[in-house]
Amino acid sequence: MSSRKTTNRTDSGTDIESLQKELARLRAEVTRVRRHNTSLASQVNNLLQVVKEQDQKKRDLQERNTVNSKTGLPNRNMMDQELHTHFGSSSKSGIRTPGALMVIKLDNNYYNINKTLKPTVSEWIIYQIGVRLKEIIGENTPIYHARDDEFVVYLKDKGSQSAVIPILKKIFTHVTKPHIFSGYNITISCQIGVSFFPKNGAAKASLLNAADIALNHAKKNNRLCACYAEHMREAVVKNMELQNSIIKALEDQSLREIDTQFLIQMQPIVTVSEIVDNVPKIKMMNAEALIRWRHPKKGIIAPDTFIPVAEETGLIMIIGKWVLYTAAAQIESWSKIDGIDSSLAINVSPRQFNNDDLLESVERIINFRSIDPSRLQIEITENSFLDQPEEAGRKISKLKDLGIRVAIDDFGTGFSSVNYLRKLPVDVVKIDRSFITNIVQSRQDRSIVKALIAMTAELGMSNVVEGVETLEQLQLLTEFGMNTFQGYFFSKPLPPNEYNRFYTETFKSP
Ligand code: C2E
Ligand code: CA
Ligand code: CA
Repeated sequence: MSSRKTTNRTDSGTDIESLQKELARLRAEVTRVRRHNTSLASQVNNLLQVVKEQDQKKRDLQERNTVNSKTGLPNRNMMDQELHTHFGSSSKSGIRTPGALMVIKLDNNYYNINKTLKPTVSEWIIYQIGVRLKEIIGENTPIYHARDDEFVVYLKDKGSQSAVIPILKKIFTHVTKPHIFSGYNITISCQIGVSFFPKNGAAKASLLNAADIALNHAKKNNRLCACYAEHMREAVVKNMELQNSIIKALEDQSLREIDTQFLIQMQPIVTVSEIVDNVPKIKMMNAEALIRWRHPKKGIIAPDTFIPVAEETGLIMIIGKWVLYTAAAQIESWSKIDGIDSSLAINVSPRQFNNDDLLESVERIINFRSIDPSRLQIEITENSFLDQPEEAGRKISKLKDLGIRVAIDDFGTGFSSVNYLRKLPVDVVKIDRSFITNIVQSRQDRSIVKALIAMTAELGMSNVVEGVETLEQLQLLTEFGMNTFQGYFFSKPLPPNEYNRFYTETFKSP
């Protein structure tokens, strides 16, 4: 019995123990579940927070995707959607009210300001331009801020040139008003391409394309605006043909074969000691190499026609190398065979200048030809260093370390800021021909040239004046203290053998 009791006691003791164990386990489980639930809850909370944030981001993104953050105007996405809807539905419902599509592009000044001044300046300017356009076009017509420097407007009820002219006039007057902003007084202009619905296209894409072509036409012809005409498209097609034939001319060809289609001419750059009886005495003569393309069908093509196309396509890299090699061969021939001590300047396009292998190519060629590097000069334009002035400065320094001289070409046509010129270790500044053409008649041009001369002299750089065509221009420039000139007054660009003859004639003893 007692043993049974004991057993019972033991049993009940065991029960209690196991119950207690079970209870502890359950408690632990509860705590675990509670903890788990708390972490679950916080996980859910976190998740909700993330979802909320994502939602906000999505809304921000959507907003950013339809609105330009600088001007608050609808952007390109919005334009695509709205114009698509407009033209899609109008053709379906048969509404055919003629209208005008305008592409308004700001000029280079905006680009330059964007690159050189503080972002707040360009942001302020673009905002102001948005406001001005809105005032002209009115609240009911959307102005799309399609690209940073481009606005698009569709005027639903202006289906002819005469209907858009008053608006174009207003746009030019208001957009070009100066922006006065803490110490800056900046004027931005624009160019406009116009196409008409339905005459130039019935869909969004064709109208935009026609307006773009008109805009390009205006740009190429230095006009403020152009309305689309069929011949403009033909010019684009011609341009494409030109591109194709450049590609053909350069495709897989060795430098020697390129020689058969491309050639360089040399234009003298002279230093004058004095003018006696209206005859300038030349004491030194250098040259600039200018490329020509002998097209198999079209004859000689000027660089202004094909260099921009080559720049666009990247083919400038091959052309540029060929010019470098040819110029170096010319310098070698001058020093070894012809007894001519001219230095030779070559033009390096922005794309070529900004490419990584420029220095390497230059170094390789001066070693290969064993020429005196100081006889090679590289001309770059302001466009080459607007994007990354510091990097450009470093590159110019490296070229100078190699012994190469560097010139800024077409000076005065770009932004011409003394601030960044100061940072660039260039030797020569070439004053653009556009200031010389009317220098005798125009007091303004004279003032500009004087200022440019003073500015570069202050920076310890020497000047070359381009485009001197008459004795009057030469005399005036000599009075300003200039002595180095390039222009038709002295000579046009010459084939190499004619340059050699011109040089020898100039310096032969009397
Ligand atoms: P640029 O570098 O400003 O070259 C001077 C241009 O002015 C040359 O035109 C020259 O023939 C012209 N010129 C010189 N003196 C006078 C003058 O007294 N009056 C007038 N009206 N014009 C004068 P070109 O040879 O047609 O070259 C045009 C541009 O093409 C050059 O302007 C240069 O930017 C570019 N270019 C020429 N060769 C090359 C090249 O090898 N590579 C690159 N990247 N560009 C080149
Ligand atoms: Ca040049
Ligand atoms: Ca020039």
